Amino acid sequence: MVFRSFLHDNLHRQRHLGEAMILRFLTRPLSTPQKAVAKPPEAARLCLRHVGIDMPIEIKRSPRSKRYALRISLTRRAIVLTLPLRGDLKKATLFAERHADWIRQKIDQLPQAVPLIAGSVVPFRGVPHHIKATGRRGAHVLIGQDETGMAILDVPGDPVFCARRLRDFFQKQARRDLQKAVDHYAQIMDVKITGLTLRDSKSRWGSCSAAGRLNFSWRLIMAPPFVLDYLAAHEMAHRKEMNHSARFWTLLDRLTPHVAAAEHWLKTEGPSLHRYGDQQSTANTLDLSTEEI
Ligand SMILES: [Zn+2]
Repeated sequence: MVFRSFLHDNLHRQRHLGEAMILRFLTRPLSTPQKAVAKPPEAARLCLRHVGIDMPIEIKRSPRSKRYALRISLTRRAIVLTLPLRGDLKKATLFAERHADWIRQKIDQLPQAVPLIAGSVVPFRGVPHHIKATGRRGAHVLIGQDETGMAILDVPGDPVFCARRLRDFFQKQARRDLQKAVDHYAQIMDVKITGLTLRDSKSRWGSCSAAGRLNFSWRLIMAPPFVLDYLAAHEMAHRKEMNHSARFWTLLDRLTPHVAAAEHWLKTEGPSLHRYGDQQSTANTLDLSTEEI
């Protein structure tokens, strides 16, 4: 059986508009089409050196692209240079070099990545929590408050493993909340699902296959509960409408009153959820200081 993974065109498109700040375009039209010849595979990155600082840039060729464009991906904290399929890499590099000051400035303005270690503040169910790791013995992360009334997440065990434990905790809580919400909608809609998987996708918050398998980003546990609940309702609505038609949105509006608010939250605040945690394990992420080609 062919499983057709259902792309969230609408959410997807909105997210990308939200996360990317389009820099500037090269207005020059494309060079004349060249004969198709087998080219050696080109590097997926180039490294721009500007006033002694290396700036790695991801290269992305796109059939939809008509010009050279630079953008900053907030979710991946990366500079991305998009060029047409037949675009010239040398021209693209010159283009990036001309805008090096601008790129540097945008990188400096990026919100800092927040590691999941003691002292950091991380949102959990929409509320900022201080991470505490005192080496306490025990198996469970405890949720509490400090003497000032600030919410805390007290992580047990060796502080070296704090990030991993907290991530495990977040994923467990995400699964619990999502399962609960999905069960609720399954019951009122009288539909079934065949599985629920958590992922760490940078490009979508959730998806639903034709066979009824749901995927969600575990990072939704950091968002306010109405956002997580909305995503569950959205995916469940796809059990009846595998599209983003008017019928789909009407059904979704009947399931939850939070459609507009949650879509707005995901667009404006969603990208910032990718700041949290160890990003180094993500293959797509650039190391902004040391990458060399
Ligand atoms: Zn959808």
